[in-house]
Amino acid sequence: MIERSSTVDSTVVESIIEKRLGGDRLSLEEGILLFNADLTLLGHAATQVRNELHPEGIVTFVIDRNVATTNVCIIDCGFCAFYTPPRSDKGYVTELDEVYQNLDDLTALGGTQVLFQGGINPDLRLKHYVNLFQKVMEKYPHVHIHSMSPEEIDYLCKSEKMTAEQVFEELKAAGLNSFPGGGAEILVDRVRKEISPKKASADRWLDIMRSCHNVGLKASATMMYGHVETIEERVIHFLKLRQLQDETEVFRAFIPWSFSSPGTPRMSHLPMAGGEDYVRTMAVGRLMMDNIPNFQTGWVTEGVKMAQTALAFGANDMGGILMEERVVKATGIVNDTNVDEFIRLIKKAGYKAAQRDTNYKIIRHCD
Ligand code: SF4
Repeated sequence: MIERSSTVDSTVVESIIEKRLGGDRLSLEEGILLFNADLTLLGHAATQVRNELHPEGIVTFVIDRNVATTNVCIIDCGFCAFYTPPRSDKGYVTELDEVYQNLDDLTALGGTQVLFQGGINPDLRLKHYVNLFQKVMEKYPHVHIHSMSPEEIDYLCKSEKMTAEQVFEELKAAGLNSFPGGGAEILVDRVRKEISPKKASADRWLDIMRSCHNVGLKASATMMYGHVETIEERVIHFLKLRQLQDETEVFRAFIPWSFSSPGTPRMSHLPMAGGEDYVRTMAVGRLMMDNIPNFQTGWVTEGVKMAQTALAFGANDMGGILMEERVVKATGIVNDTNVDEFIRLIKKAGYKAAQRDTNYKIIRHCD
């Protein structure tokens, strides 16, 4: 479904880039044309925009830990190799003792962020997450809880008969610091119906982000591309995020990642997107979404070499070290890294490295 026509005339691309660098906004049609542009021109333009927003020449990263809360899920996405249905003997809910062990490891490494992620498990009610966050905050007050997803919030709204604002308020009072915004996939219902028909609609995802903003929390915008979407639908995704950001400024960062097909139950026949597509998507996103400050690389799906390469296509943040990631690993894609490697890769790409916290505040320069 991903169609890209032959390379567009460079004078057309240059005039679109000139328009963007002059401070004007790009349209849907211009975004589609950029997806067909010469990659070198895109890289230069996205880097120029990135450097205007981040003139200090720093690439940041956060030391964090992903903790899977549960692998039980009723949403049954076609691209997911992580979940197991209710009553399966492979299902688990992570015990508090294991969470503590993970956070002890994180603390020993100077980490500052935990990302709890999991399936939509009908046995887990709001009080489970409230209790978890409270316990973590009591024992690890130095750790930011960057957790939950719009899908989990949507389910808790239904199971608790509460509004999204009410659910967010309870989680925030318990310690939720920021909201990762997973599950955006492509914010076009035609695509969502094909790859994850039980997931909330595109409008519901955006509404939950609005509620997140209404309670004073910040979030990330994500995108999983490279499956059944068209190039036009990718650009529509950018425009929807840009519009919500105009309205709310809820997004601190945008994080694209490619669909990983090995190991997925119903979509493993689809070819994997390549590295060229990854950096192109990063660059066009940077040029289209002029109001999102940070663009994050995704080494877990793309590998550290592509993550480093994306720094030349508009990215300014390497994301988290993600000690023990399980969701992507379940697809068969296994990448690992560590703090020293992150710092080396950033410096080799020509930038200064700095460790940040969840709120993008620099806590250590790694000179
Ligand atoms: S991607 Fe998330 S919501 Fe979809 S099946 Fe997997 S765990 Fe469930």
